[in-house]
Amino acid sequence: MRLRHIPGAEEEIANSLYVIQNPQEHRGKWNQVFGNENPVEIEVGMGKGRFIMELAMRNPQINYIGIERYPSVLLRGLQKRAEVELSNIYFMCMDAKNLGEVFEPGEVSRIYLNFSDPWPKDRHAKRRLTSETFLQVYDQILARDGVVEFKTDNRGLFDYSLESIPAANWRVKQYTYDLHNDPMGQGNVMTEYEEKFSSMGNPIFKLVADR
Ligand code: SAM
Repeated sequence: MRLRHIPGAEEEIANSLYVIQNPQEHRGKWNQVFGNENPVEIEVGMGKGRFIMELAMRNPQINYIGIERYPSVLLRGLQKRAEVELSNIYFMCMDAKNLGEVFEPGEVSRIYLNFSDPWPKDRHAKRRLTSETFLQVYDQILARDGVVEFKTDNRGLFDYSLESIPAANWRVKQYTYDLHNDPMGQGNVMTEYEEKFSSMGNPIFKLVADR
């Protein structure tokens, strides 16, 4: 995501009721934050958050947490969040590499990765959100029967992920190279990037992984 620093973004995030401050304090107790025992699903790299807010509107019986590391990007999500009445979604401003400090083993039911940064250079492979480095983090927090759902229009990152996932002893359960013309696309919720790239004619790739 192209990044322009917005003055005051950090302060606004630090004062927002929609953003969990010091998320480590809630480790093992996320049910208390939401006030129920519903499953918790997270999106890593939510950008402006349209996807996860739409899921929260459609599925009031599921709790959602959107994670974005850049305050200036998250700020855009907060502006949209203020327009909707929802009690089942929060945001966190943090790097996903530290998610093990925020969730206990098994506390997360599903992880969404949407249009993650491709990091095409080999020396940056560890930064890819489907690298073994990040799969180890997801392994720490995801329920035994939990899944990771990954969408992208980037063929290089998708093909890399089809290899990195089994190499890390996970399983690719399902995948498609054309989500919008495949049964896997049923009920699909589009992200900001998905809307943009599919309108340019790019096919959208999706995989679902578990272990
Ligand atoms: N998911 C959105 C969509 O599909 O429209 C945004 C896609 S954007 C290309 C990827 C986002 O992931 C960026 O906003 C970036 O800051 C965020 N991101 C990348 N690596 C991250 C990490 N390690 N932790 C948290 N956020 C991350």
